[in-house]
Amino acid sequence: MDYSHVFHNDPETFVEKMRRDDKLPCEKVEPIPLDAPKKEGYTRFVCISDTHNLHRQMRHRVPDGDVLIHCGDFTDLGKLEEVEDFNDWLSTLPHKHKIVIAGNHELSFDERIMANVRKSKADGSYCRFKFLHVIPEDICKDWPKVLSNCTFLHDAEVTVNGIRLHGCSWNPEFGGWAFNERRGQPLLQCWNKIPEGIDILLTHSPPAGYNDTVDPHDMCVGDVDLTNAVQQRIKPKYHVYGHIHEAYGYTTDGKCNYINCTIVDRRHNPCNKPVIIDFPTPEGAEGMGPIIQH
Ligand code: 5GP
Ligand code: MN
Ligand code: MN
Repeated sequence: MDYSHVFHNDPETFVEKMRRDDKLPCEKVEPIPLDAPKKEGYTRFVCISDTHNLHRQMRHRVPDGDVLIHCGDFTDLGKLEEVEDFNDWLSTLPHKHKIVIAGNHELSFDERIMANVRKSKADGSYCRFKFLHVIPEDICKDWPKVLSNCTFLHDAEVTVNGIRLHGCSWNPEFGGWAFNERRGQPLLQCWNKIPEGIDILLTHSPPAGYNDTVDPHDMCVGDVDLTNAVQQRIKPKYHVYGHIHEAYGYTTDGKCNYINCTIVDRRHNPCNKPVIIDFPTPEGAEGMGPIIQH
């Protein structure tokens, strides 16, 4: 699609209208219990997000599975020491594959922010993100090396056991953090990079209408163009994300399953449970393919 939705700046009205016209069905899904045994012929994904440096203080143990997914905000500021600590923790988990995307709190993962930091270092100009001076530039260029215990995706896809996953970190402008983009055409252009035929889509921020409401009035703040892209073009079986801490949960529109797997709640307590996806493994498929950048 070339044009963003007419309600791109008003997800609340978009969702209200679409629900009224029955064009945006949303049913709650009962999650798989964390101690449920895995069935033969399935690949188990264990989804978490928004641990904000509290990965060792999670109330619930991360269950075993084939693939761990983290949908971003694993740090508070994206400092090198935070990323290294998260990477060390990943090595303690049993999952054969670990797939991670960045969130808006991983400031140093956003090239545009780092360019600003470099410029202010060079010419003394104002930089909003002073604390980023603790991160050596050469390391910023090569986060996959620091995140050595996982597969890092941004505008990229990977195939695990024949199941296609795509990850990206874009999120609607809010406070000038990493991967912020304006709603409307700029964000739509980001979503347009996601290919069709993806089985499990990973984003940091939610689509409008599915586990995307904030306090105090349960207002929808997810992106309208992401909902449209998911439902009308990409058509994944699962869409996994975090970002809105108030909106942890699992819902479906009858075709796609939506999972907000934020671990911290509205009070920043790491009390939410990881969410399990058991995905049928295509016959004969095994292992992880190369990362394909889009
Ligand atoms: P974070 O700073 O971890 O990315 O997001 C934390 C909280 O900020 C969310 O749980 C939500 O309350 C708020 N927030 C994040 N993005 C938005 C947004 O686009 N709109 C509104 N109203 N709140 C947001
Ligand atoms: Mn967060
Ligand atoms: Mn976030």
